[in-house]
Amino acid sequence: MSAPTVQNFPKPKSVTGGCLCGSIRYRVDFPDGHDFLQSSGSCQCTQCRRGTGSLFFTAHSIPLKSLTYLTATDALKKFYATPGITRGFCAHCGSFLYWRDESSNTVDLAVGCVDPELLVGEGEEGVGFGFALANMAGANIWCRNEIRGVTDGMVGRERGSRWAERSVDGVKM
Ligand SMILES: [Zn+2]
Ligand SMILES: [Zn+2]
Repeated sequence: MSAPTVQNFPKPKSVTGGCLCGSIRYRVDFPDGHDFLQSSGSCQCTQCRRGTGSLFFTAHSIPLKSLTYLTATDALKKFYATPGITRGFCAHCGSFLYWRDESSNTVDLAVGCVDPELLVGEGEEGVGFGFALANMAGANIWCRNEIRGVTDGMVGRERGSRWAERSVDGVKM
């Protein structure tokens, strides 16, 4: 298959993923008609930078009921940088797994924890589901914090929307 585009890319029915040490494993079963474009976004806020250790958080929003744990969740810890906002991580290896507003019925998965063969695909010509999960055609937030010459060319430049801070504040970049 040639390079994926927003018009044509492989869509998973489900994916599996987990933390670096394997203590926490999960499966996501996408609902029929799941919008893989609008559900894909990013955040460059300082909380997400510190929480993920990456310059931006690559997020894919799913209904909470689509997420099933395949392991015990004893190692799953929650951190609150903001009241009501959960950041889920593994207490053993530190992997950041998700961001969640507890007043919503969705969860924003950290796409980097999805299993590598699913993200990348198999073989030299393989196309995995990385594009479906991380196309960033939805909301890319906190672009005010872009690092000039590094992250400003990476997210939401050709697709999706770029917001100065939170999308609910309505200031576009
Ligand atoms: Zn772990
Ligand atoms: Zn953030």
